[in-house]
Amino acid sequence: MKIVVLDGYTLNPGDLSWDELKALGECEIYDRTPPELTVERAKDAEIVLTNKVVIDRQVLDQLPKLKYIGVLATGYNIIDVEAARERGIPVTNVPTYGTLSVAQMTFAHILNLTQHVCEHAQAVRDGAWTRAKDWCFWNFPLIELAGLTMGIIGFGRIGRAVAKLAQAFGMKVIAYDAYVKESPIPDVEMVDLDTLFKESDIVSCHCPLTPETQGLVNRERLRQMKKTAFLINTSRGPVVDNKALAEALNAGEIAGAGLDVLEVEPPTPDNPLLTAKNCYITPHISWATKSARARLMKTAVENVKAFLEGKPQNVVN
Ligand code: NAD
Repeated sequence: MKIVVLDGYTLNPGDLSWDELKALGECEIYDRTPPELTVERAKDAEIVLTNKVVIDRQVLDQLPKLKYIGVLATGYNIIDVEAARERGIPVTNVPTYGTLSVAQMTFAHILNLTQHVCEHAQAVRDGAWTRAKDWCFWNFPLIELAGLTMGIIGFGRIGRAVAKLAQAFGMKVIAYDAYVKESPIPDVEMVDLDTLFKESDIVSCHCPLTPETQGLVNRERLRQMKKTAFLINTSRGPVVDNKALAEALNAGEIAGAGLDVLEVEPPTPDNPLLTAKNCYITPHISWATKSARARLMKTAVENVKAFLEGKPQNVVN
């Protein structure tokens, strides 16, 4: 079987091994594939693995040998799964590999907003402490999390992991989920969205991107938040209206934001969040700890193996 990996670089920039996949067939691994080369590279493959390279109906029409598509991620919106199903091609994903890594990044953003470790360390490096009149100084308000309210939107795997961390910090946790109506975690109150936005000191998004959640955090919702509140988004960029958030931050309607995802990635230079007040952005790396990527690789290979053995797993179509 010929296996083609269209864009393997972000999963394995060199610190993991493709050997287990290579043991399953003749492998061609590309770091990246621009759309115009997708068909040329995949046309002889029975098995294609992709992370973000789009395989739509038009691409599928040109890949008659294709028997299997493995997505190297959880979200599979880059594949026309219906068109694949019509052709009898199973599409698989990796449903969970990074729950604790994403929860950890959520708290990295929260602790950055409450402590500004990087900026204080930089100020010390720049000599501000050696020049200080007192034995300590701080350049930003320092905020204790204990007693504050954490509002979680989307109470699935990551939302629940974040709730447990918040409780460990002594926070009160409230959550909203379109489908989960009773919290499986003690001492978490399920609330409606109005209550969540009004009462939370930190709002953190952990829902998938769907037509219902696109732009869920919009101008009106941001206006419901406390002026002292922070918004965290490690889910998907379009869940938050980027322009509305930039305006809210610049107008001081909320106190800050920590974002791992943006509406367009990589962002265009005119994304207003890049220069918005108290806005801290990481380049979509919540998923990318080595531990999480190693789990992703393991499951992606197991998915191919299961398909070859005639009992495909993690099929999404
Ligand atoms: P999950 O499926 O376990 O949980 C998602 C929850 O959102 C579910 O409980 C679901 O009921 C709820 N939900 C669905 N529609 C909703 C709506 N309209 N309003 C409110 N809640 C809704 O998924 P997960 O593993 O917790 O992951 C959550 C999201 O995190 C993923 O969809 C993905 O977009 C994102 N993610 C980001 C990274 C990253 O690197 N930044 C990595 C992994 C996952």
